Amino acid sequence: MADSPTVLLVEDSKFFASMLHRRIREDLDFNVEWKATYADAVAAIDCCQDDYLVAVLDVTLPDAPNGEIVEYALKKGIPSILFTAGFDSAIRSQFITWNIVDYILKDSGDCVDTLIHTLTRIRKNRDIKTLVVDDSKPIREAVAQLLGTQLYQVFTASDGEEALHVLEEHPDIMLVVTDYDMPNMDGFELIRRIRERYSKNDLAIIGMSAGGEELLSAKLIKTGANDFVPKPFQVEEFHCRVGHSIEMLENIALIRDLSYKDPLTRLYNRRYFFENAEPFISHAQKHGNRYCVAMLDIDHFKNVNDTYGHDAGDEVLKNVSALIAQGFPERAIVTRFGGEEFCVLTAHDESEDILGKFEAVRATVEATSVTVNGSTIEVTISTGLCCEPENLEAMLKLSDSRLYAAKESGRNRVVASPASPNVRS
Ligand code: GH3
Ligand code: MG
Ligand code: MG
Repeated sequence: MADSPTVLLVEDSKFFASMLHRRIREDLDFNVEWKATYADAVAAIDCCQDDYLVAVLDVTLPDAPNGEIVEYALKKGIPSILFTAGFDSAIRSQFITWNIVDYILKDSGDCVDTLIHTLTRIRKNRDIKTLVVDDSKPIREAVAQLLGTQLYQVFTASDGEEALHVLEEHPDIMLVVTDYDMPNMDGFELIRRIRERYSKNDLAIIGMSAGGEELLSAKLIKTGANDFVPKPFQVEEFHCRVGHSIEMLENIALIRDLSYKDPLTRLYNRRYFFENAEPFISHAQKHGNRYCVAMLDIDHFKNVNDTYGHDAGDEVLKNVSALIAQGFPERAIVTRFGGEEFCVLTAHDESEDILGKFEAVRATVEATSVTVNGSTIEVTISTGLCCEPENLEAMLKLSDSRLYAAKESGRNRVVASPASPNVRS
């Protein structure tokens, strides 16, 4: 587990610590370093603070009963999650000023599950980009810091225009937290502009503003925000709303992935192809690009299964899929159409040698072998290519008949026109 992140666990109860230790290791595959006292924990931090992704700290230790370990870990810049005996408003106020990741009540029935959930988030958040938009510098920085405590990557902008520039540079931003009352471009216009490009399922927007206008939250949500946080807000409420928005996007992405991707090869499936092929072609036409449809099929694949077994056949399928996908890294929809058959839809400039690209994939598959259980397996593919700008159905039919021609004329070839079925292009 050398590459797994390490959690510094500081907890004096051996029973509780060993339970946490086991769950963190089993559920998350994190390394855990356990210390039972303040003195040991400080020594560990002094020695190896850069090794720890996060610290899980018991606020009350026998040799440091007043949260001294929290102050020490935070002073050293280690994101910290606290375990505390119970909810107390004075203690809670103290926690909030400490800029911790979260605090968890030990007497809550699901405290271990909560910890696992928080650690899971922390691991994911490091790869998630967020954008805070507010013309007030102190508020912008405070909100950015709150997101920072959860280890999100945070960008900031002081108005809508600047925010759009940041989005242009980082189109993979997942969450925008925006004020509404700003100069140059206000929050409403910003939300409208973002929604021209990103749906609520692709990028979450949380609107934010001080009270005053009664229907503000309704207006922000109707303009396209996913959620609304009134200022001032409780830190817990803010984190909860941010967490829900991000998790909603992740769940949608997961559902899309499950319904659009083939689990064996990780290529798109037929459903994805038929939902996206027409818009892909329209986009290509609008930009003056050419487009082609190709059907590819592994030759004599039944023999591979019969000779080496179905599992070996699966490995070959995965390998061939990866080679086809590598051949078309951009401006293409690469699909496993079924069994050992693939469909590739490409868009390209007039000058590009698309036939040459399919020929290159054919040659790469021919030259690549897969070793499964000591057996070296080699396969070839046949391809039918259609670049006549017909409608999608006609192009699929033509490429299918050319694939058939490629098979009939000896396999391991690309057939790209009706006149030359016997020519290896
Ligand atoms: P041709 O060159 O004419 O295409 O011959 P072929 O043997 O490749 O074609 P055929 O249609 O006769 O056989 C395809 C085989 O692909 C049969 C089927 O069991 C196998 N197959 C389909 N899907 C999978 C899969 O997911 N895994 C494995 N291992 N085999 C699969
Ligand atoms: Mg403002
Ligand atoms: Mg086949």
